[in-house]
Amino acid sequence: MATPSETSPPDAARRAATVLHRVFGYESFRDRQEEIIGHVIDGGDALVLMPTGGGKSLCYQIPALVRPGTGVVISPLIALMQDQVQALQQLGIRADFLNSTQDPGTRHVVEQEFRSGELDLLYLAPERLRTEATLKLLDDAKISVFAIDEAHCVSQWGHDFRPDYLELQVLHERWPDVPRIALTATATQATREEIAIRLKLAGARLFVSSFDRPNVQYRIVPKNEPKKQLLQFLRTEHPGDAGIVYCLTRDSTERVAAFLTEQGIAALPYHAGLNAGTRAAHQARFLREDGLVMVATIAFGMGIDKPDVRFVAHLDLPRSVEGYYQETGRAGRDGLPATAWLAYGLADVVQQRRLIDGSDGDLAHRRRLASHLDSMLALSETTDCRRTQLLAYFSERTAACGNCDTCLSPPEVWDGTVPAQKLLSTIVRLDRERDQRFGAGQVIDILLGRKTDRVAQYGHHELTTFGIGTDLREAEWRGVVRQLLARGLLAVVGEYQTLAITADSGEVLRGDRLVMLRRDAPMPKAPRSGRRSTAAGADAGSALLEAAELSAADAAVFEQLRAWRGATAREQSLPAYTVFQNATLRAIAIARPATLAELAEINGVGEAKLAKYGEAVLDLLAGVNEP
Ligand code: ADP
Ligand code: ZN
Repeated sequence: MATPSETSPPDAARRAATVLHRVFGYESFRDRQEEIIGHVIDGGDALVLMPTGGGKSLCYQIPALVRPGTGVVISPLIALMQDQVQALQQLGIRADFLNSTQDPGTRHVVEQEFRSGELDLLYLAPERLRTEATLKLLDDAKISVFAIDEAHCVSQWGHDFRPDYLELQVLHERWPDVPRIALTATATQATREEIAIRLKLAGARLFVSSFDRPNVQYRIVPKNEPKKQLLQFLRTEHPGDAGIVYCLTRDSTERVAAFLTEQGIAALPYHAGLNAGTRAAHQARFLREDGLVMVATIAFGMGIDKPDVRFVAHLDLPRSVEGYYQETGRAGRDGLPATAWLAYGLADVVQQRRLIDGSDGDLAHRRRLASHLDSMLALSETTDCRRTQLLAYFSERTAACGNCDTCLSPPEVWDGTVPAQKLLSTIVRLDRERDQRFGAGQVIDILLGRKTDRVAQYGHHELTTFGIGTDLREAEWRGVVRQLLARGLLAVVGEYQTLAITADSGEVLRGDRLVMLRRDAPMPKAPRSGRRSTAAGADAGSALLEAAELSAADAAVFEQLRAWRGATAREQSLPAYTVFQNATLRAIAIARPATLAELAEINGVGEAKLAKYGEAVLDLLAGVNEP
């Protein structure tokens, strides 16, 4: 600890470091945390863009603890406030919240605590700021900092838009001297500009961290039998692990959750159509239990800070790269290896294009949706490093990563110009038919020379292109259709999803444009970075694998610590990770501290947890060390 001397850091920095060590138990700040915290402690406004899991919370929590007064945190995550506040209380921080789920009596108690300056942090739902009563309440005590969490909710085009966020300008108008820090994990240039304008943060300093999440392995596979592929993925790579499976519709979340349960994998559905009680119960189980799979629509996930989510799987194509990156970012917040796995096929392209055509809003809005989809399709079809492409979307340049599917087993590229011409010319011929109700299935049947009833009925076996495509298999043809659709060389139109040529198709038909395609190959099992491939069998869960990297003796201690943590968390009805995170338990298992002072040295053990759990951990370790 620094002693005052001529070379000691400025007061703010020294106090921030003290809080980091003593309250949070962490050794050092992560990338830009120190700069951001110093700036806010000094009274500056900040706009912070950091990926999910990057460590945004400390950026406002530490200023709130260092500056005089209460830090007010605006968060849309009502269902998570209780957990967030409990986790802070575990650290000995005086935190509480105000939202619509509380009864008036409880609210009154919290308001009194705030008024008498007994709170370090107060979490507020944004809609509360609409009432004059809340504004008056905030006038009654000193505020150290305003933190606006999930700041992208102010963006009207994002899927997380909350009208109440537009009202947050009031903070600046009413309390011009209180520093404001807005934080988000959504980072395209357009979104960040919108946030700065709408929240009146034009004068704020902008802090942009790298959006790379090197421990997350990105993989996109062709979709054949999605449920079976998912099951295989879970069984071989993530047995016993907690994870999220995203589906497009409410219906499919229920079906997939039921299917996984039948197969012996603990899974629950989550979507906006479930009643509030069920949603809250499912979310609480996901946070508290080990190894539960949540099968959800995108209604689930914002603010879920469970650190040990080991995979995020998508069974349907996300609508935008931005959404995809946020969703996959929920994996591996603890920095340990995690997988982002997406199954994607022809039907996804057709479905998404139809959704856009049928969506409300003006032409400009539909164009924007279409361009979001195009970026997502380009990512799905790329033969280059997925991460390079993902980060490029956020204006960040990186070299090939070595931890995505295209890096680990580079896809074969083949010249698909002739098949593309065969396909397009078949479609041109169909277009001349009076009835245009033909989708990909019929076109492929014609190319393969299959005289099905429908082919015969319409006389399609007499087309000159009938049977000219037998050099490719049906699955390969579907791949060709999908890739042409993804590149805008083919379109789907109308209610019957008829395939149609586009303005660009002509170039291909005339032979003016080469069409290089990606060969869809089943993914060979990829090695996992950061994890010894020889460790344990393929059927061991990540929890076991994490332990497997420890010596046998340390692994046994780790397991005992986990069991102790589980029991301790259950007694207090807390999520296990708010007691100690896995990384901390691993460090304890290796170091085997014998005294409280030694235990305090471990990353993640702050003063409050030392006081609360220190003796129990030392007792457990003493039992282990006895012969
Ligand atoms: P975000 O809100 O950006 O998604 P969090 O604030 O929840 O991320 O932090 C992600 C994880 O990283 C948490 O488990 C947190 O405890 C941990 N963390 C944050 N900062 C540090 C640090 N300086 N040292 C060690 N762990 C940290
Ligand atoms: Zn890569």
